[in-house]
Amino acid sequence: MAESNRVVFFDTTLRDGEQSPGCTMHHEEKIRMAHQLAALGVDVIEAGFAIASTGDFNSVQAIAHEVRGSRICSLARCKRADIEAAAKAVEPAQINRIHVFLASSDLHLEAKLKITRAQALEQAAEHVKLACTYSDDVEFSAEDATRSDIDFLVQIVTVAIQAGAKTINLPDTVGYSTPAEYQQLFETIRERVPNADSVIFSTHCHDDLGMGTANALAGVLGGARQVEVTITGIGERAGNAALEEVAAAMAVRRDAYPFTNNIKMTELYPTSKLLGEIISFSPAPNKAVVGKNAFAHESGIHQHGVLANPLTYEIMTPASVGVTANNIVLGKHSGRKALQHRLHEMGFALAGEELDAVYLRFTELADRKKSIYDQDIVALVGEPVA
Ligand SMILES: [Zn+2]
Repeated sequence: MAESNRVVFFDTTLRDGEQSPGCTMHHEEKIRMAHQLAALGVDVIEAGFAIASTGDFNSVQAIAHEVRGSRICSLARCKRADIEAAAKAVEPAQINRIHVFLASSDLHLEAKLKITRAQALEQAAEHVKLACTYSDDVEFSAEDATRSDIDFLVQIVTVAIQAGAKTINLPDTVGYSTPAEYQQLFETIRERVPNADSVIFSTHCHDDLGMGTANALAGVLGGARQVEVTITGIGERAGNAALEEVAAAMAVRRDAYPFTNNIKMTELYPTSKLLGEIISFSPAPNKAVVGKNAFAHESGIHQHGVLANPLTYEIMTPASVGVTANNIVLGKHSGRKALQHRLHEMGFALAGEELDAVYLRFTELADRKKSIYDQDIVALVGEPVA
């Protein structure tokens, strides 16, 4: 499996994303979002953490019941009750997965779980085996993998594979790793763990140092064939690697990332828009791929170039990621060509002196006003020539 260049997209918008401030979703909203994630071509939807609350359990179960086309997954700690709840919630799905996790760093084992390394190995084996009695697709995550002792990480991954896990996730839980380190981690683990080629390795990257996407892609270069991501990067603290960024990097830089996936690129923007309507905020305007300004050109030089040939300042077209709105923003940096283009789109065929006169009034207005809207332009055209 590790030979294949197909990368599995595992979306955790409804679990890691939903548990962050301002991102709480109601039952119906989670179901709408899950349907859209399936339309986007996500391979695995982590629909929630079934044991966390009755609401979470019900949402995972409803998504498992009605969303088709994606594998439906629930998170579970190494506890019998967690695994039983996860199993019951994902049971109605066409295809399902149980995602079992246990911390592997000494810091987490000692300070949080208060168990020894030996106990951690036992717990991992026991609960992966238990999960395998409920689903033929079990994923094991070694939480805080990037701050774990490498020899112990080899041990716990080995134990999880022996117990039946088919996907092994090595999360950068606290967003601490660098791309070079993260790539090396996958290379080392795949080299040292017996039967590593029989499972799929996964990335799970947080953006605390702004390296979530870079780390996820580095993990894939190191041999990972699953990425755990969220729409617009929502998630704990600074968030997760953003699905649209990882997918766009693979599409635009196929030379550097020669991998295939199932993501339908034109659904990226509609998915981000739906999420923005559901949670309490939209992505920052300068957010890569789906931000309001991601394809906006205001400076005259850039506008002239893009109107002549979009490739001058665009590495991908807005349409390729599902953006249909106008990408030319008129402001004080805009030139005559951009104004003429917008006038033409609005049905005004102006040229020569007529255009000069409107352009002069436009620049005067743009000095006073940050953004020029279509209604401003109608007013400019309608003004009598002074
Ligand atoms: Zn996370």
